Amino acid sequence: PDAITVQELANRMAEKAADLVKALFKMGMMVTINQTIDQDTAELLVTEFGHNIERVSDSDADIDTTYDVDEEETLKVRPPVVAIMGHVDHGKTSLLDALRGTDVVRGEAGGITQHIGAYQIKTKGGEHITFLDTPGHEAFTEMRMRGANVTDIVILVVAGDDGLMPQTIEAINHTKAAGVPMIVAITKSDKPEFNPQKIRERLLEHEILVEAMSGDVQDVELSAKTGAGLDELIDKILLQAELLELRANPDRAADATVIEAKLDKGKGPLATVLVNRGTLKVGDILVVGTQSGRVRAMLDDKGRQIKEAGPSLPVEVLGLGGVPMAGDSLTVVETEARAREVAAYRQEMATAKRTVQAPVNLENMFSALA
Ligand code: GDP
Ligand code: MG
Repeated sequence: PDAITVQELANRMAEKAADLVKALFKMGMMVTINQTIDQDTAELLVTEFGHNIERVSDSDADIDTTYDVDEEETLKVRPPVVAIMGHVDHGKTSLLDALRGTDVVRGEAGGITQHIGAYQIKTKGGEHITFLDTPGHEAFTEMRMRGANVTDIVILVVAGDDGLMPQTIEAINHTKAAGVPMIVAITKSDKPEFNPQKIRERLLEHEILVEAMSGDVQDVELSAKTGAGLDELIDKILLQAELLELRANPDRAADATVIEAKLDKGKGPLATVLVNRGTLKVGDILVVGTQSGRVRAMLDDKGRQIKEAGPSLPVEVLGLGGVPMAGDSLTVVETEARAREVAAYRQEMATAKRTVQAPVNLENMFSALA
């Protein structure tokens, strides 16, 4: 192809997309990360960042999804993917546990919880919501840095008996930078020191005007301990999801993103993936980052074997040749030969990248230390 998106080029260069946008701006071009640039501009950027240009004679060496866009009429509503962020000890894990407890399916089945990095609940009203079960900011920021934006909605947890703390501010900044809508959850409402108004006022200083103060950012008071406010939070998530009109085509080969991956002594490489679009099936042939494989089995977050996984469903995949990285994309391909070819090409590229000597300047020195 003779055009590439800024994001994709950034991925291939192992640079931040924002830095490419900045460089393009300096070159007089106003481009966002999802826009495409032509080959000449791409080559200019690559040299600008001190990388070598590798011309690929076989343009089919990697999977190119630039023009692989689903038709409007194939799109169906998909569940929202929600991340929970906030300062340490403000109640993220407790909230994730409490929300998991509201799952009507788990209630019926008396299911055993399997920790796979994300889980999905079915609400009393029958809607589904997926929660990233990796509290803290690592998953969110790391994956975003790698160009994988899987989060639709961020819940900012702030303890109502405390205040805005450094990681609260950090979470606010990450969320704003990602352009992801936020719902503020003021937690620990059961405590006598609970003072939500103080939190709302402090949020104003960060240009977050919550609903309770006539703003447009939804907020809710809740207690993970007593369960008060949980239903309201779920309603607000569903309302936000509706506004976002989250849709995907379920009737196609799957694209997914790795949430976490590990090597299991007995089962081999395990990857928890979140399906972005399409339906992932047992038997599918895959490329995942620099790894290839075939889906031997899939487990959901309740530890049940499943045969198919549609959009926004988190599943654990067995059958990969090696352990991929969080943020890697998973693509279904036609043949094992093709899967091996793409994986081998990517491994080659990754090795080449590592041997490229990045130019030393203050900026990358600091980011290397961070
Ligand atoms: P995290 O570090 O953000 O994951 O916070 P945790 O969920 O581990 O909670 C930190 C502490 O706050 C723990 O001792 C929890 O029991 C307590 N906690 C969390 N949520 C609530 C709540 O709603 N009410 C009360 N009283 N305590 C809470
Ligand atoms: Mg925690």
